[in-house]
Amino acid sequence: MIDTTVFDNAPLCEPERQYYFIDHASSLRLKKESELGHPMTFHVTTFGCQMNARDSEKMTGILSNIGFTETDSETEADVVLFNTCTIRDNANQKFYGHLGSLGGKNAKNPDRIVIVCGCMVQESECTNRLKESYDFVKIVFGTHNIYKLAELMFCYLNKGDRIFDVWDKPGEIVEDIPSIRKYPFKSGVNIMFGCNNYCTYCIVPYVRGNERSRASDEILRECAHLAQDGVKEIMLLGQNVNSYGNGIKDEMTFPKLLKEVEKIDGIKRIRFMTSHPKDLSDELINIMRDSDKICRHIHLPLQSGSTRILTAMNRRYTKEQYVDLALKIRDRIPGVSITTDIIVGFPGETTEDIDDTVDVIRKVKFDGAFTFVYSPRTGTPAAKMEGFKDPDWIRREFDRVLTAVQDESKEMAARFTGRIESVLVEEVNEKDVGFLSGRMSNNLMVHFPGDPSLIGSILDVKLNECRGFYYIGETV
Ligand code: SF4
Repeated sequence: MIDTTVFDNAPLCEPERQYYFIDHASSLRLKKESELGHPMTFHVTTFGCQMNARDSEKMTGILSNIGFTETDSETEADVVLFNTCTIRDNANQKFYGHLGSLGGKNAKNPDRIVIVCGCMVQESECTNRLKESYDFVKIVFGTHNIYKLAELMFCYLNKGDRIFDVWDKPGEIVEDIPSIRKYPFKSGVNIMFGCNNYCTYCIVPYVRGNERSRASDEILRECAHLAQDGVKEIMLLGQNVNSYGNGIKDEMTFPKLLKEVEKIDGIKRIRFMTSHPKDLSDELINIMRDSDKICRHIHLPLQSGSTRILTAMNRRYTKEQYVDLALKIRDRIPGVSITTDIIVGFPGETTEDIDDTVDVIRKVKFDGAFTFVYSPRTGTPAAKMEGFKDPDWIRREFDRVLTAVQDESKEMAARFTGRIESVLVEEVNEKDVGFLSGRMSNNLMVHFPGDPSLIGSILDVKLNECRGFYYIGETV
């Protein structure tokens, strides 16, 4: 029988309302488990960026608090949640293929609750397709209401009807909901949501909404709680962290926020992602230079080395401004690693534009780069531009960019050989269980012999041999 009194008595304010629904969803889960005759399990699959990874930790926390047990098996789980990314069209198509194959397997378990959420769902084309062609998908919600998962789960368990709850615009920022971290010793912390930059190729402002900064006291409280809980490394997350603070009451900027996070006992390392080059200030560079805790790594998306293409992309910096900024960072912060994103095949791009991109790669000597083929996203200005490139041209120019990136980054990685660096030990090496894997402050990976009890420690490791993009070392 459908219970409506639960809704009548639900608190109106958040996050209290969600804790209330966690309890009520938990009662319905127990009922369902006695019908099924087994404890219900869940599996979360995450696509895309660090922001999505953090959202998935929160949804894992909510599902665990309802009482579902996490399992490694997507095909066996009773609740399967997909947190999607829509930055590139081929990823969308792969996701539909994956979902379709899960649908076939669903015949064996018609009671399975399949949930799709995240960036793809913010596009009406996707929501309509899920509605019409994937009837085994039971709950669908977007990027603005992930904190409501417990309430949506309660509604589904209570009534059994499919739920589509996708908001056009962001509502309030709701934090302090349960979360289960993938790593006990490191965590992402959202400092802002959305983006106002409207780069012409990018779908993010349309699916994540305009930029909203979290109040700094809430961020610092969360960091302090994490430190008490054993977290040593914090990654401050936002689409453009350098514009943090716009529109909030307190006089906080991103460099000032970093200084406050630095003061928290127990936090040994601070990272951040992502920085827009147009907003990266001298103040930030100096704070990084003078800090013992802020890691020696900046991810600084270039996208293109051609001023003409950068203008068409609405990036608001020139080739020369980017190079000057990157070289200033290298000069002021010794040993810093600079990584980047590069797009090849933007509409109207020419071989001469790629020459400029390669020139920037050679000058800046990136420590690493994610190189992507341009993917038109419906609704963005670039998707309506003329001059789409043919696949042969893209393949040729992509290889040229990739070769330049690999040459430079190999050389840059090798510059630390023989040094002793502090390394946060993250996990047992995937290929050799006698080895551990960890990251240096500059984000390079190091593999070295060691005991799993060292996971989560920060150790001094001698970098004996560089193997392209990682090191083999030994503890000292
Ligand atoms: S800064 Fe540009 S590329 Fe980055 S999220 Fe915003 S619009 Fe997209």
